[in-house]
Amino acid sequence: MLRFLIALTCVLSMANSADSVTVVELKDGALTAPTAQPKLVLSEAEWRKRLAPEAFAVLRASGTERPFCGGLLSNKKPGYYVCGGCALPLFASAAKFESGTGWPSFNREVYKGNVERISDNSHGMERVEIRCARCGGHLGHVFNDGPAPTGERHCLNSAALTFVALPPKADAPGDAPAK
Ligand SMILES: [Zn+2]
Repeated sequence: MLRFLIALTCVLSMANSADSVTVVELKDGALTAPTAQPKLVLSEAEWRKRLAPEAFAVLRASGTERPFCGGLLSNKKPGYYVCGGCALPLFASAAKFESGTGWPSFNREVYKGNVERISDNSHGMERVEIRCARCGGHLGHVFNDGPAPTGERHCLNSAALTFVALPPKADAPGDAPAK
């Protein structure tokens, strides 16, 4: 019996760590401290109900929008770019730069734990895919040809993001404190 309980406890604790992520959130226009949160898991039918077709095509089917077509490419307002699937803050306007690629580009995440990196060998290329850490939504890819201070270029699809503008008098958004 005791052995059974120990085994059960191990299974439950493993399930817990696999089902949760430590992330920062956006509350009242500011980033919170990192907290552990459950991952958001929905069925394909639920995602189709929740998302516009173009958002579904990127977030849930790893599609790529055509360059120079995304609605957030030229956006220069202060604010946060949050996941179109679960509203997790992913990038701040302070990290956005003009890459010339035709896709919204950022040189860093608001918090490393909010964006998951996965090696992607599809289409005969070795790339690093980026996904929302909470809902697993496909965002784009990250490359090592970006500007200082990180040298990274997070190449995003506008359809994967929702822009949250800050109130006019708020300070320019920065980054979450380092872990
Ligand atoms: Zn998400």
